[in-house]
Amino acid sequence: MNSWDEYVNPAVRDIPPSGIRRFFDLAAEMKGVISLGVGEPDFVTPWRIREACIYALEKGYTMYTSNSGLKELREEISRYLNRAFHLRYDAETEILITVGVSEALDLALRALVAPGEEVLIPEPTYVSYIPCTILTGGVPVTLRTTMDNGFRITADQVEKAVTPKSKVLLLAYPNNPTGAVLPRAELEDIAAVVVERDLVVISDEIYAQLTYDGEHVSIARLPGMRERTVVLQGFSKAFAMTGWRLGYAAGSEAFIGAMTKIHQYTMLCAPITAQMAAMEALKNGLQEMRQMVRQYNYRRRLVINAFKEMGLPCFEPGGAFYAFPSVRETGLGSEEFCQRLLLEERVAVVPGTAFGPGGEGFIRCSYAASVSNLTEAFKRMAGFLKRLKKTGAAVSPQGALHSAR
Ligand code: PLP
Repeated sequence: MNSWDEYVNPAVRDIPPSGIRRFFDLAAEMKGVISLGVGEPDFVTPWRIREACIYALEKGYTMYTSNSGLKELREEISRYLNRAFHLRYDAETEILITVGVSEALDLALRALVAPGEEVLIPEPTYVSYIPCTILTGGVPVTLRTTMDNGFRITADQVEKAVTPKSKVLLLAYPNNPTGAVLPRAELEDIAAVVVERDLVVISDEIYAQLTYDGEHVSIARLPGMRERTVVLQGFSKAFAMTGWRLGYAAGSEAFIGAMTKIHQYTMLCAPITAQMAAMEALKNGLQEMRQMVRQYNYRRRLVINAFKEMGLPCFEPGGAFYAFPSVRETGLGSEEFCQRLLLEERVAVVPGTAFGPGGEGFIRCSYAASVSNLTEAFKRMAGFLKRLKKTGAAVSPQGALHSAR
């Protein structure tokens, strides 16, 4: 037998492993590391949600559900989307429960993209979008965003990137890794191009509840956009339920039907116990969710101030739980900065390059960590920066670190 590499589908073989995981495997082997790395709430799932799962098991809920998921949960989701985001979807035909937003994303791309068709993706980008597009045979086309434009794509950028092969615009706001949000007026401009160029939108709104200034506006809410958008949402981030693996997609009946076809042959259904727990989250867990969001907002301010004091220019994130400061002025590349910070100070953050070439010169720090861990991590980081400045070895030609603007 030849090496397995020769049997593995070349499309799979050529995909690099996630830049986040690679880094964290290294950190996991070290002692005393404070991790601001993985995008995961530090909170345990609120007790009432865990309890609902325990009751479900006690009552013997151990079987498959319908492919689309428990009807009662779809009804809860339908009511919740309406109340929280002014989105109206029919529980019977327009909502599909999935194994995390991860599965929903994969289903949406596979249901839409034929080989050679193009998917427009803002970059820096969440690590899954490009690999999942490639696995469909589609072609990812990245739209570079920068700190100067608030890491927001523009209608003009979309317009310029469209070719006869373009099919999907993948929107992800609030954004991972930058924390950027897209205000309504800019969404409206983008929506106009989407309609004119006959694109469809996959809108990953997993961080919708973690919007700190004003309300989250889904592109699906704008005129003409409901029928050409599939909204992805989930429980991982807002309800601190990453390990439960539960998400959902909401869109027009025909499109949700197409996604359900793939789902029924590959996943069958999401776990029933997680679905029972999610029902409790939406029925009675909103208060706890809002408390967690308030905590993230408090930490967000702490993090922005800490970077200011350290002299690292940092775009003010409006959502999610990430800060994306520039480390360019240290003279170190993102990878080297993160490696040295980990080895010398035992603080793990993610190099911006894990999110595409546009992330060079940046690092991603999650503030879904306790205040004491954040405080200690920033103390260590400040020490590291001071040392860099003193030795001068790593200071950029433009000069030493200076105060953030
Ligand atoms: N989409 C984005 C933007 C994310 O950041 C993540 C997780 O980090 C996911 C999707 C995956 O979420 P889930 O746990 O629901 O699969």
